[in-house]
Amino acid sequence: MVAIGVLALQGDFAEHVAVFEHLGANTREVRSPSDLEQLSGLIIPGGESTTISALLERWELTAPIISLARGGMPVWGTCAGLILMARSIGSDTTPRLGLLDADVLRNGYGRQRDSFEAEVAIPAIGAPTFRAIFIRAPIIQRVGPETKVLASLEDGTPVAVQQGNLLGSSFHPELTADTRFHAYMLRIVAAHRKARHVAPV
Ligand code: GLN
Repeated sequence: MVAIGVLALQGDFAEHVAVFEHLGANTREVRSPSDLEQLSGLIIPGGESTTISALLERWELTAPIISLARGGMPVWGTCAGLILMARSIGSDTTPRLGLLDADVLRNGYGRQRDSFEAEVAIPAIGAPTFRAIFIRAPIIQRVGPETKVLASLEDGTPVAVQQGNLLGSSFHPELTADTRFHAYMLRIVAAHRKARHVAPV
């Protein structure tokens, strides 16, 4: 059975699973390399990036995920997941997937804005604006030429980006009742499967 994988080592993976199930997609919690077989896409959830990084290494998941993503499998990282997907996180040496051409700074919004919510326009999912929840979120400082900004704060700071099959958001769509961002991920997955001539999810 084809399924969307949700990395389930630490963090708020259960919330992602619930949203995808609500949208009618099959999901599979990923904890070991064999869980990656036949997946149509993968979510790297929010949580604590250093912990998730250590567990990715311990369960030998880093290399197979990198290889699947390079082969075109859609991967979406939220918050800590975005940190793990970014190519550069400043002087921080936490081992990560390093897939997405973007520089991010952990906890980059600082203490005053530790956690906050903002209405953001996301043209890719359509109107109305999306209520974005930020929890000790990474700040996206630079995006590469191939990386498209899907949403920004009013001051221009990018908060959701896409580089082909790779999606990153510094906020947590899985913590709202709005399922449009997850539906967007499902569309990326469907387009990828269509391009490969395989059955829809
Ligand atoms: N601040 C966390 C980290 O650095 C990320 C927080 C989150 O995922 N909500 O990993």
